[in-house]
Amino acid sequence: MRFIVDTMLGDVARWLRIMGYDTRYSRSYGDRELLSEAILTGRILITRDRGLHAKARKASVRAVLLESTTIEERLAELSVKLGLELRVDPNTSRCPECNGVLERVNDKSIVRDRVPPLAYNTYDVFYVCTVCGRVYWEGSHWDNIRRVVEISRGLAEEMRKAYRPRR
Ligand SMILES: [Zn+2]
Repeated sequence: MRFIVDTMLGDVARWLRIMGYDTRYSRSYGDRELLSEAILTGRILITRDRGLHAKARKASVRAVLLESTTIEERLAELSVKLGLELRVDPNTSRCPECNGVLERVNDKSIVRDRVPPLAYNTYDVFYVCTVCGRVYWEGSHWDNIRRVVEISRGLAEEMRKAYRPRR
């Protein structure tokens, strides 16, 4: 599953990338660019704009209208509506800033000048974005990342129960 995300949902774009999903996002995209990109690249459009969602449907673009407000609820909503798997693994993450593929660094001395000394001394595994060059490592913020994804998974379970059709 690949995505294009509307300008109001930058947080969703970052989280999809962290979870490893190929996600286009730019604050300068207008409705027309979003729709034409979705058509040209076969990406699923994610939006919270009802008007844009209606236009997408009319143009036969696969689109999801997000109605939740917190990031945990939004990820859960995507999971329910698209069957999106909520899981996170630093080895398959994409760069949250630019969507670039991350490459694991085998010799950490390569990144010595590009990370804070404490991080350099504490961690052995680093990842470099093959597009923008940003360096990442599995620091303490990963506890928070895992927690958010876990909460989202729980919420998705709840939502699935609520959405189950009644007889
Ligand atoms: Zn990058």
